[in-house]
Amino acid sequence: MSKRDYYEVLGVAKNASDDELKKAYRKLAMKYHPDRNQGEKAKEAEEKFKEAKEAYEMLSDAQKRAAYDQYGHAGVDPNRGMGGMGEGFGGFAEAFGDIFGDMFSQGRRGGRQVYRGNDLSYSMEITLEEAAKGKDAQIRIPSWDNCDTCHGSGAKPGTSAKTCSTCNGMGSVQMRQGFFSVQQTCPHCRGTGKIIPEPCPSCGGQGKVKRQKTLEVKIPAGIDDGMRIRSAGNGEPGTNGGPAGDLYIEIRIKDHDIFERDGDDLHCNVPVSFITAALGGEIEVPTLSGKAAIDIPEGTQAGKQFRLRGKGIKGIRSSYPGDLYCHIVVETPVKLTEHQRKLLKELDESLKKGGSKHSPSGESWTDRLKSFFS
Ligand SMILES: [Zn+2]
Ligand SMILES: [Zn+2]
Repeated sequence: MSKRDYYEVLGVAKNASDDELKKAYRKLAMKYHPDRNQGEKAKEAEEKFKEAKEAYEMLSDAQKRAAYDQYGHAGVDPNRGMGGMGEGFGGFAEAFGDIFGDMFSQGRRGGRQVYRGNDLSYSMEITLEEAAKGKDAQIRIPSWDNCDTCHGSGAKPGTSAKTCSTCNGMGSVQMRQGFFSVQQTCPHCRGTGKIIPEPCPSCGGQGKVKRQKTLEVKIPAGIDDGMRIRSAGNGEPGTNGGPAGDLYIEIRIKDHDIFERDGDDLHCNVPVSFITAALGGEIEVPTLSGKAAIDIPEGTQAGKQFRLRGKGIKGIRSSYPGDLYCHIVVETPVKLTEHQRKLLKELDESLKKGGSKHSPSGESWTDRLKSFFS
């Protein structure tokens, strides 16, 4: 799924004015209007139209345009605010409503109701490293081809579809509800305007058969768990030449052995021996890009965190990478030999002689305990 540059899509210069954008979009919208692109050309025209619509929507919004100019496609999210496409012919109708007013009646083509295909969703699991760096992935998705047996008509070879007698091929009927007359999708032909007396045995009258295809998907660097990538027009096909739905690829990031992600920041626990914690010294810490060393001061306490600036993840819309927080976990030594036990006991005796000065929480803790039990 390689996306074309928005300016290239509209055929305008990078410094095009709002007026030039609108003109270019209007020209493309006319060119790819469904009424002018029937049959074989319909699918391609629809794709081109969607592409132009998205480009125009992004570039006509000053804020989005600025983000796009700076970060390219990663800087803008066409999914935002697109949720309302829903039923019917929203994509075209909305756009034409915007630019051409009432020039085209909504949701109809050749008198019949057209429906946009359903959106599909696909869940993709990636590793944290892949999320940080981005990835070119290939996925297998369902695709629909015209049925070879009936060539898309849905009728058994040798028979043909008949005009629906309930709606006279209009796809919709007037229903009276009290004083009102409302237009409804024809219940007999479900809006297609046609009745197939003998459905094609290969496709069950659908005219289409489900196959599989491979789709190239570009996962942008910095993507986070739960984000969705939209692949326009790769959903289910529309009805009566309506546009196909979109495919949404939902990203799931696998748990990582070492790092936990919080937005652009990463966190990890670093075990440190209590000797090193007490004496201070250089310790090795992991980062997504390899090993790093940090100096911890003497007397470092458990739970202390050290920040490595810029060693987090650069989010899709972030200007800078986040930070890596290393949380110190002080380890208590285990499986001690007799000799080691003796050394520790000696150490303990020596520390006790020094009183609470060796214990950072010492006096305040003793005081708190006292007031708690009194
Ligand atoms: Zn068929
Ligand atoms: Zn009908």
